[in-house]
Amino acid sequence: MLLLEAGEDDRKFWIHVPMGYARLFADPRVNWMFESEAEPELGNRTLYQPRGKVLGGTSSINGMVYMRGNPADYNEWRQRGCNGWDWESVLPFFKKAEDQERGADDYHGVGGPLRVSDQPIRWELAESWVAAALEAGLPANHDFNGERQDGAGPFQSTTNRGRRWSTAAAYLATARRRPNLKIETRAQATRILIEDGRAVGVEYVADGVQRRARAQGEIIVCGGVYGSPQLLQLSGLGPGALLQRHGIAVVRDLPGVGADLQDHFYVRLAFRCKQPVTMNDIVNSPLRRTLAGLQYVLFRAGPLSSNGVCAGAFARSDPRLDRPDIQLNFTMWSFAGRDRSGVHPHPFPGFSVSAVHLRPEARGTVEIKSPDPLAAPAIRFNFLRSREDVRALTAGMRLARKISRQPALADYVAEEVLPGAAVETDQEFEAAIREHGLSNLHPVGTCHMGVDAHAVLDPRLRVNGVGRLRVVDASVMPSVPAGNTNAPTIMIAEKAAAMIREDARATG
Ligand SMILES: Cc1cc2nc3c(=O)[nH]c(=O)nc-3n(C[C@H](O)[C@H](O)[C@H](O)COP(=O)(O)OP(=O)(O)OC[C@H]3O[C@@H](n4cnc5c(N)ncnc54)[C@H](O)[C@@H]3O)c2cc1C
Repeated sequence: MLLLEAGEDDRKFWIHVPMGYARLFADPRVNWMFESEAEPELGNRTLYQPRGKVLGGTSSINGMVYMRGNPADYNEWRQRGCNGWDWESVLPFFKKAEDQERGADDYHGVGGPLRVSDQPIRWELAESWVAAALEAGLPANHDFNGERQDGAGPFQSTTNRGRRWSTAAAYLATARRRPNLKIETRAQATRILIEDGRAVGVEYVADGVQRRARAQGEIIVCGGVYGSPQLLQLSGLGPGALLQRHGIAVVRDLPGVGADLQDHFYVRLAFRCKQPVTMNDIVNSPLRRTLAGLQYVLFRAGPLSSNGVCAGAFARSDPRLDRPDIQLNFTMWSFAGRDRSGVHPHPFPGFSVSAVHLRPEARGTVEIKSPDPLAAPAIRFNFLRSREDVRALTAGMRLARKISRQPALADYVAEEVLPGAAVETDQEFEAAIREHGLSNLHPVGTCHMGVDAHAVLDPRLRVNGVGRLRVVDASVMPSVPAGNTNAPTIMIAEKAAAMIREDARATG
């Protein structure tokens, strides 16, 4: 078996330090650093899209929040024709992947490769934020991946004893010892070779040299929500007109390749804190930074052992909804900017709460810009075309503000810095959303499975009309789950592994 990864090995120090992900956010050595096209409804702003270019992919640079979404999300996949993807069918694969620190129960597994842990340290500010959320009327929820999703409480993370637990740590660390697995890093797949309607090999570039590998079995494309549709399009699998425009021979006209891009959309509320207890205060003080570094290096403890996204809430933007459509993420820092130049914390004590809309109506595209396989694709989200998306996000921001004004946070909140207390009317909120809103970095859907006209894959993740070719990554999701997307992607990979084994047995 041959595994091709365009990026490097995952040896860099900061990959493994949970708080280190801020340093990977715009590090070209491990990050594709994509940029979207101008978004018309956001004043033509482009949106920075970090993606892991390293073993473990984006799970090696992400925020490590462990979240599965709502069971109804998967039942909806089933209703859309994805047999075998309803909640009852996918739960065993979430559990199979999991090594839950709190132990096993009806919803959680132990002994799996993916370590899931509680916050390694106590953040009193985060506890006060949860108390304030309860004062604001939300129910307490100790496990967002358990019986119910509504409420406020602590977040768990894919970390283990103060280290990031990426898919490379969880799966590859042991698998790479197998004699039948060869891993080539710095090897970018540029074309899938298709003969007589079957995938038979891959062309790739390694250290500037063009190579070819023939496959005896299946080819599994796992390039992520941007890389997978790009590779299929380069190989002649995609919307016919797009391929012809770039002089690529159409092997199969598949209009859904690169279509139906979905992502969560969010706006961050930032608060100046009365007390120097936030990550800003550690980052902005050379002494406290050094002490935190020592604490981590010597004991793998302290603030750097945490991802800092330690608590949050799920709520409904309208009480008539049958499930939450808003996620609030509490983070132990605030920043003036976060883009391809990096993350720039405020020079004062601060924390933030992101109001995330989980069910956006926006649909976008990923399309090659040229036949050059090393050129980045064009990414369009089309965020905020729908009034409903604006309404839901306004409600989410109002809830985050309401929580910040509760007695439990009185000793902490000095002022709302962003968007600021002057923003009060619906029109002002809408303007703030258009000016400050961002992609939540949970894109899915660009090679989705299903039975609709845009479906690229059948529910066993096989590319329609091409033999021996599957896609297995976040791009296969028919709709974005109501939560972070790493755990659902790993569930998909576990289920795909089972299906590949079954199909191999069936065909002898
Ligand atoms: C900054 C950030 C923070 C996030 N935080 C969280 C979080 O806290 N919790 C959460 O659940 N989710 C989070 N996410 C999202 C989550 O990490 C992703 O949804 C998930 O990792 C996607 O996995 P994937 O397998 O689809 O793609 P990826 O993990 O991106 O994997 C694709 C891999 O394919 C490689 N590749 C691409 N094209 C080629 C090619 N042509 N040839 C060879 N190799 C190629 C890439 O280098 C990469 O290694 C975050 C994302 C980002 C960017």
